[in-house]
Amino acid sequence: MLDNLTQRLSGVIKNLRGQARLTESNIQDALREVRMALLEADVALPVVKEFAAQVKEAALGHEVIGNLNPGQAFIGVVHRELTRLMGEHNDALNLTTTPPAVILMAGLQGAGKTTTCGKLAKLLHDQHKKKILLVSCDIYRPAAIEQLRTLATQLGIDFFASDISQKPQDIALAALDFARKHHHDVLIVDTAGRLAIDEAMMAEIQQLHATLKPIETLFVVDAMTGQDAVNTARAFGEALPLTGIVLTKMDGDSRGGAALSVRHVTGRPIKFIGVSEKPNGLEAFHPERMASRILGMGDVLSLLEEAQRGVDHGEAEKLAKKMQAGKGFDLNDFKMQFVQMRKMGGMSALMDKLPAQLSQAAADSKVDDKSINRLEGIINSMTPQERSHPELIKAQRKKRIADGAGVKVMHVNQLLNQFEQTQKMMKMFSKGGGMAKMMRSMA
Ligand code: GDP
Repeated sequence: MLDNLTQRLSGVIKNLRGQARLTESNIQDALREVRMALLEADVALPVVKEFAAQVKEAALGHEVIGNLNPGQAFIGVVHRELTRLMGEHNDALNLTTTPPAVILMAGLQGAGKTTTCGKLAKLLHDQHKKKILLVSCDIYRPAAIEQLRTLATQLGIDFFASDISQKPQDIALAALDFARKHHHDVLIVDTAGRLAIDEAMMAEIQQLHATLKPIETLFVVDAMTGQDAVNTARAFGEALPLTGIVLTKMDGDSRGGAALSVRHVTGRPIKFIGVSEKPNGLEAFHPERMASRILGMGDVLSLLEEAQRGVDHGEAEKLAKKMQAGKGFDLNDFKMQFVQMRKMGGMSALMDKLPAQLSQAAADSKVDDKSINRLEGIINSMTPQERSHPELIKAQRKKRIADGAGVKVMHVNQLLNQFEQTQKMMKMFSKGGGMAKMMRSMA
């Protein structure tokens, strides 16, 4: 996510580190670089100009000029201004109204509206224990209604059936009535998109808005479309009283321009970002954390939140009990660690949030999703007996396991080595001393 921008800005800060102190002249140089980096990231020009002016003003302030640690001082200023540009703090959904709270989703075709409806339903259901109803008012593409139905079924969320012979307003009213009668807390309404802004689409969504009087009207937009995303957001914002923006596909090679400009240009907060195609790939947007990520400082808070959500506490507890009882950590437990990691979005999702130096270390050690899948495949080819007694795995068994998993014996050996290392760590952990001791052993 936003790798190029991160690299460019890290470069600017590294250059400043070599300087004895911040002066007007080296601030000018750094600012020129920051401006270039932002333009390259497809940030809108007026936003770049204003941002640079703000950073300059703050950097020339007494706290920074003459500072003996120019890199740090400058990074502090840029971090603060980036955060401010993206909106200071997280703007949460406002669902405080007589139920059902209606969320109307707007956006162009392909932006990720339907996917986001599913993700949002899952998030509100899982994290906020809300009873959700999903409905599609897209009568132009039968496949769109079907797509939402499939998603709802997969996620175990209630779905209000509609068909293309109905009018969007009639569907919306019927769904609202159903949600009231069945005590749904939230009604999420998917709408028809078009390839580009057109008047008929705008008129239709304005009518839907007037009919439903939603408490939240979210504009869903593809972050990879850069400045186009910002222009479409502006057009939708003029037609509808948007309450927030969802930036999708932030996991792609988005250059970051949309994330940095959209708030400033539209005056509406980014409430969520889409970070994968999967149903759990929606995150609350925190400007400060995003600024940290952009500056290569990592986003450890989001990582911790994900860990708490993704980890199956039942499994974690079982493992902890096993260790306390002195019973060994075996290959089944080892495999469980990969499963947990996948639940947290896989290695690539984790790397994105680690500080730049750590994620480089992880990249250097070549731990990626592919190698994790391979490790899991190898464990899958073992018999249950082998998994609980790894010491049984000698030459012949190794060959059989390798053939079964479609890998070389060398890979089986690698896995067994990694397992032994982890086992050693686990033993140390369970014998007391806990985390601190384990960390010392790794240092
Ligand atoms: P709609 O036409 O606006 O309803 O768009 P869809 O929900 O059908 O999404 C269009 C495509 O974008 C689908 O292939 C989705 O899987 C994909 N998509 C949506 N959100 C994300 C995201 O956050 N990350 C990634 N990688 N893909 C996404």
